[in-house]
Amino acid sequence: MGVRQARQALTELGVPESSVYVDGTWLRPDVPQIEVVDPFDEAVIGLVPESGAQIAASAVAAAVHAFPEWSSLAPAARADLVERLAEALESVTDALAVLASCEIGMPVRDSRGGQVALPAAVTRTYASLARTLEWEHRDESGTTVTLEAAGPVLAITPWNFPVHQIMAKLAPALVAGCTVVLKPSELTPFNALAIAHLTHTIGFPAGVVNVVTGTGPVTGEALLQADGWEVVSFTGSLGVGRHIGAVAGERIARATLELGGKSPAVVLPDAPLEEAVAATVRNCFVNAGQKCNAPTRLYVPEPERERLVKVAVSAASAYVAGDPLDAETTLGPMVSAAQRERVRGFLERAAADGATLHPATVDLPTEGFFQTPTIVTDVSDDAEIAREEVFGPVLTVLGYTDVDEALERANDSQYGLSAEVWAGNEAEAAAVARRLRAGQVRVNGQRTPMPPVSPFGGFRRSGLGRELGRHGLDEYLEARSILGDPASPSDPRTHPTQAR
Ligand code: NAD
Repeated sequence: MGVRQARQALTELGVPESSVYVDGTWLRPDVPQIEVVDPFDEAVIGLVPESGAQIAASAVAAAVHAFPEWSSLAPAARADLVERLAEALESVTDALAVLASCEIGMPVRDSRGGQVALPAAVTRTYASLARTLEWEHRDESGTTVTLEAAGPVLAITPWNFPVHQIMAKLAPALVAGCTVVLKPSELTPFNALAIAHLTHTIGFPAGVVNVVTGTGPVTGEALLQADGWEVVSFTGSLGVGRHIGAVAGERIARATLELGGKSPAVVLPDAPLEEAVAATVRNCFVNAGQKCNAPTRLYVPEPERERLVKVAVSAASAYVAGDPLDAETTLGPMVSAAQRERVRGFLERAAADGATLHPATVDLPTEGFFQTPTIVTDVSDDAEIAREEVFGPVLTVLGYTDVDEALERANDSQYGLSAEVWAGNEAEAAAVARRLRAGQVRVNGQRTPMPPVSPFGGFRRSGLGRELGRHGLDEYLEARSILGDPASPSDPRTHPTQAR
């Protein structure tokens, strides 16, 4: 059923079979093919090429070739095309949400927001930023400072929020004047190819957007080794991020790395305790817990812990597991059998080490890669399950005795992507928020406000650089200082926002 709808969506979205999009053309290379599996019915949606070195090199060459013309276009002209891409995403909301749900297993009610509305909004914010940004100014010494595209970009993305993760790279790179080679996750490549089709129909020049499919070790590695890219923007795991950072370091190329997390949520004693715990469970288990900023370590006052664990289990038991395309479904399968096995491995090792597992009472379908949401207690802060990213529906609840201790423990992690505080009074919430060492701190369950322009990224091993808003654009820009510049600041021949 899901597969039939996914194939229908592929047709509607103009994605050809077994193809990649390079230099404005769909290619059907004679290379091994990768099966893309729907995690709900475990059936094959379709095939994509394992692109390999030859395609990787030609995609990077296309981006290099297209760069001079694209980067010299006026920012407003690039913004117009990017704005049309936002509109195009919205115009295919139903098909794109269905396709993403079939690739990831994400409930379609979440895909519509996370895979279409959010990325379209992000795309639109970059079109407006490009129109209002001061691309050229005189500093206090009289020197002209111009902002320039940093170069051809290699964008490598994961599977968990694929359309959002793609557009958070593609939109700023394009308005900055960069050309892009995108390699999506091999688990969820079709939505990236759908985006390629949209850019094609809108009329982005050949080579500005290229999408090649394949696995990390083969195609990802071939792209990393290809000559010509100047910036790599990666979202994914810490291990792969380290490797990509090392390759970029060797080239002295820029790297934006959006990596993992083990984010804490600290519930202060005067917070609305039950509400805080239930909301943290719901936030942690979005997309079956496959979310980089999921609050996976919940710190609660020790005297209340036992009672609050029951609240957490009851909140986790409210999930309705089923077909991601069913509007009632709130818990879909995990993305793959391998990911589910990984999560089960964490739970088995935790139990063997003395942890107590509290599985939620949720009826799971017999088919599909479903995993029972589970609350874990009786673990120390040093336990593997309290330190490592599990990336599944697993929440560890830990008790604390005083707030300073809770904050010290919350900050004691190699990661620093996100953190949350729940408090009963605003002054304390504000103070605690400023003591949490993370790139994003949410107060009392605040969801992402619109427009999506606040910087997103990690402290410590959660990464380098930021995405979204102006900070996200800076990842793709170089600054050039022209000392003794004879041009007048309002000269339309030299001022890029005026030239067309
Ligand atoms: P992953 O690191 O396995 O893969 C990410 C991408 O890198 C995929 O496209 C993969 O094919 C590619 N890749 C793998 N090996 C490669 C290599 N040697 N060379 C080039 N490319 C290679 O991650 P994943 O399993 O797809 O995603 C889950 C991870 O992503 C989690 O750790 C999660 O925390 C992280 N993540 C981070 C953020 C963030 O913004 N910080 C957002 C979402 C996910």
